[in-house]
Amino acid sequence: MSWKHDRRKKVVFFGDSITQQGAGPGGYITKIDSILKHEGIEDKYQLIGAGVSGNKVYDLYLRMEEDVLSKSPDIVVIYVGINDVWHKQTSGTGTDYDKYGKFYTAMVKKLQAIGAKVIVCTPSVIGERTDNSNAQDGDLNLYSKWIRDFAATNNLPLVDLRKAFIEYNLQHNPLNNEKGILTVDRVHLNPQGNILVADQMWNAIRQIAYNDLFAHPLPETHRFPMLKYELIPEQLLYEGSIGIENIFSPLPCNQEIITGTHSRAYLDKLLDQTLTASEQRRIGFPQSPQLTQRELMIAQGTIDCCTYAMEYGVALNVAGGTHHAFADRGEGFCLLNDMAIAANDLLHNKAAGKILIIDLDVHQGNGTAKIFGEEPRVYTFSMHGSHNYPFHKEQSDLDIGLEDGTGDAVYLSLLHQHLTGLLQTVKPDFAFFLSGVDILATDKFGKLGVTMEGCRQRDEMVFSLLQQYNIPVTVAMGGGYSPDIRTIVEAHCNTFRTAIKVYA
Ligand SMILES: [Zn+2]
Repeated sequence: MSWKHDRRKKVVFFGDSITQQGAGPGGYITKIDSILKHEGIEDKYQLIGAGVSGNKVYDLYLRMEEDVLSKSPDIVVIYVGINDVWHKQTSGTGTDYDKYGKFYTAMVKKLQAIGAKVIVCTPSVIGERTDNSNAQDGDLNLYSKWIRDFAATNNLPLVDLRKAFIEYNLQHNPLNNEKGILTVDRVHLNPQGNILVADQMWNAIRQIAYNDLFAHPLPETHRFPMLKYELIPEQLLYEGSIGIENIFSPLPCNQEIITGTHSRAYLDKLLDQTLTASEQRRIGFPQSPQLTQRELMIAQGTIDCCTYAMEYGVALNVAGGTHHAFADRGEGFCLLNDMAIAANDLLHNKAAGKILIIDLDVHQGNGTAKIFGEEPRVYTFSMHGSHNYPFHKEQSDLDIGLEDGTGDAVYLSLLHQHLTGLLQTVKPDFAFFLSGVDILATDKFGKLGVTMEGCRQRDEMVFSLLQQYNIPVTVAMGGGYSPDIRTIVEAHCNTFRTAIKVYA
């Protein structure tokens, strides 16, 4: 078997004595390491501490070649600024405000030039009083604001430690003590401080890893808009619809779970990179270990969503919905059928007894229909364009073929009629919803005439009905090929926003 994990992501923590201690026992880097172990992904990251006591921004700049660049990091977390402020008072040195920004900018540019992703942090605290009476509060606020603006202007992930520390202290420091809440000595972290910093940093690191994986690199001109997998969570985070805590990154799915749906021979081809040229053409992507890894993670993402859906009513996979994958082959940008894999896993674990798959991608869910053709516990419902790919359609339990140009009114009334009927007759205890946005009139491949608002109403109808019948649902995004990627992202984000609204 030629299967192996990607090279570990190298994360360098670049800073002062707080970071130096962070790599020691109980330190925040050590704590991130524990989080990795707890999540079973310690083999995916290598954490490197590069903190030196007393360092200011220009000290980092001077030693970055040796301590950071030479290690070829994938991710660099910069946590500096305390001494720049503190030493103005204690040592008569420190760093002037304008120099701080200049050195910081130069440092980030150099890191980006070697392809490293940079995470910036605001300087936390010098003193923990919550009434702004710590001597350096003014400067720390000023330098922190510079970091926040810099992160926003340059689209860099920000860990706002200063904000997190102040918020924590407002809650946990009623006596207005100057130390002992998150620090031992007003600056250096106590166990609680290390936990707080570890959590904040890990969330930022995980977000980068997540983005990297779901946007699988393809040739620039490829017609599949991979970029949407980065842009959807970015947009939702940016607008505040979701927080970082709402995102999880799945592990690759277990092979035994995959072979509950796909043939061993086909899985081996994906793992060993032995798909023939014509099999790859049919899929539409060139094979690669990264692509297989991605598909395994998407499948696990859909499985994990089912667990969350049981708890919260709804969970959404930002990718997935690969419904053209058959048990023994892939086609139409689909390698593994994530919903089929997850549905079989639910049945296998007796977590569900009757499953309804609501496939509203503009293309028929041919792989899904075929996989469950003989499975009475899974009811497949596909509403799709009659004259769209796949030209040879399989038989779902219910197929509703739509004429070219079908608009909002007809689309929504057909959906309401059929879905209501199915919920009453099939009586599922779990549902999957494939929310493809290639039903939009603007879609390059779809032939329907649904508007953005009609697409949003579709999502709302599905969520509202499922919620009314108390049926948990896992959602996967499926297709969307409007020429302007903003249209695609907006329509997919609407699915998230609508779910949030309905299930609030
Ligand atoms: Zn589609």
